[in-house]
Amino acid sequence: MSAEKATALVLRTTDWSESSRIATLWTREFGKVRVLAKGGRRLKSNFENALDLLTLCGIVFLRKSSGGLDLLTEAQVIQRFPRLRTDLSALYAAYYVAELLADGTQDYDPHPLLFDEALATLRELGGECGPRVARFEMVLLRELGYSPVLDRCAGCGGEMNETEAAFGASANGVLCRNCRGGHRDARPLSPPAYRTLRDLAAPGDDWRGTWSVEVRADVRQLLGQYITHLLGRRPRMLSYLGS
Ligand SMILES: [Zn+2]
Repeated sequence: MSAEKATALVLRTTDWSESSRIATLWTREFGKVRVLAKGGRRLKSNFENALDLLTLCGIVFLRKSSGGLDLLTEAQVIQRFPRLRTDLSALYAAYYVAELLADGTQDYDPHPLLFDEALATLRELGGECGPRVARFEMVLLRELGYSPVLDRCAGCGGEMNETEAAFGASANGVLCRNCRGGHRDARPLSPPAYRTLRDLAAPGDDWRGTWSVEVRADVRQLLGQYITHLLGRRPRMLSYLGS
């Protein structure tokens, strides 16, 4: 066993025994790790506060060489996100972010950019959460290798006419008029929603512009459908999200 240090976001915890907990953590250095926190349920334990859901903490853990859970030996709070305690839509959005990280990533598959994006999302959530969550989803998709094809038809590779675009989750991207018929899950994509998807996928801050109610609804439904297709099931928190 070797001792490792990491910066970690608490995604999920489960009671394990009288006094212990198992925590699923999203770390910047190692990706997702699952650790056993002995004494993690005792009131005055070192871990008690640091293992609250969606807390950012500095941890030390002993990495098991073969199978079994890693063992958490230290956890100290670095940051909490107080807005999540007062804004219910922000809290639901944060739970959704945690669910995607817990269920969409593999153990020990680090993605520092996705870690940073998750933190930026938790810091900025509040009020209208739709665009911030959509940006997070797009970064998650890119980091995990599932960026939707947006610059050409995902069916034939041909050029896209913005006014005739559709989005097909099973096609992994936009579809031209000729190809959409072959995908039963294809749904029409309005030109403004199409442009917003490209802004979300591009580097920079163009996605932070104003989103109409229609664009919010379209993007929410489309990303939800795509992520459901990729995960093979609908994320539990999806129905709690506003657009
Ligand atoms: Zn096509």
